[in-house]
Amino acid sequence: MVNSKSILKDNFGRDHAYLRISLIERCNLRCSYCMPAEGVKLSPKSHLMTSDEIYNIAKTFVKHGVKKIRLTGGEPLIRKDIPVILEKLATLNVTLSITSNAVIIDKHIAILKQNNVNKINISLDSLDRKKFKEITLRDQFDKVYSNLLLLVEEDFEVKVNVVLMKGFNDNEIINFINLTKDLPISIRFIEFMPFDGNKWDKNKMVSYKEIMACVNSTYKTNEVIRLTDAKNDTTKNYKIKGYKGSFGVISSVTNPFCDSCNRLRLTANGKIKNCLFSASESDLLTTLREGKSIEPVIKKAVEAKFKVRGGMDTLEKLQEPKLHNQNRSMITIGG
Ligand code: SAM
Repeated sequence: MVNSKSILKDNFGRDHAYLRISLIERCNLRCSYCMPAEGVKLSPKSHLMTSDEIYNIAKTFVKHGVKKIRLTGGEPLIRKDIPVILEKLATLNVTLSITSNAVIIDKHIAILKQNNVNKINISLDSLDRKKFKEITLRDQFDKVYSNLLLLVEEDFEVKVNVVLMKGFNDNEIINFINLTKDLPISIRFIEFMPFDGNKWDKNKMVSYKEIMACVNSTYKTNEVIRLTDAKNDTTKNYKIKGYKGSFGVISSVTNPFCDSCNRLRLTANGKIKNCLFSASESDLLTTLREGKSIEPVIKKAVEAKFKVRGGMDTLEKLQEPKLHNQNRSMITIGG
């Protein structure tokens, strides 16, 4: 009998319909939780996927059932050929979206619209200009904040990613939620996650439980509404009664959502990561450049996916630097 199992279905029955493609390893910000202070060793340009290679690889994934592609980085918008990449990917039958730090997104509004990119996730960790500079090492708060307002005005569906860290921005939880009173945006608080070189410490992380304790001590019980999460959503979504927007928590550390994971990641140098936390990678780009089929490589990578967080199935294992330092830095994965 012919085995008709999709190459995107893993050994735990999870179908992978969502591909996140990192376009570039470089970024125009230097967020300390994402990029090690000493920087990262960049791949030579010739080792990065070209726009044609990105398209060809994406086309194969779409053929096997990928319905959603998110572009990320580094900062995807600093890639010079971003218009060409968007135009090519827009010809595929997928929902295209992008994650950006929004520093230069105002220059890309037209090209995003032309290619039906309506869903934009932007990263903004503080509403305080000084703190923004402290975490990103760049004085770009005004630009990012005005671009956030511009995206809303231009009718994009905007989500704002906030990585919370104790003693740094955990006192801004309510200020962020209050933005949703008049803005139809979704704030997503992300638990600080460990990656190579980011000096992760469990004590710096603000947990889902702590975030909700802060919310529940600020608003009345009947004002905090738990929303229904979309299928495969990584966020536990809430809103404050009467507010235009919503907020949520991505609890990858304290409450992982691996059972419903439908994501695969492709790094800018053409490696598949079957999990954000996986130590192993599978080289698609070399296979493609050798003129061979990439399908067997994809299948093997999907079959090798662990049930939980790249095999770090307990908080103790995740805390073990020997284990999480086998992974890349987030800047070269893309979130
Ligand atoms: N440059 C783009 C940006 O800033 O959104 C895209 C790449 S960035 C790596 C993607 C997302 O990963 C950002 O929202 C960022 O906050 C998140 N991120 C990076 N390092 C993280 C960490 N250690 N824990 C949790 N989220 C992290």
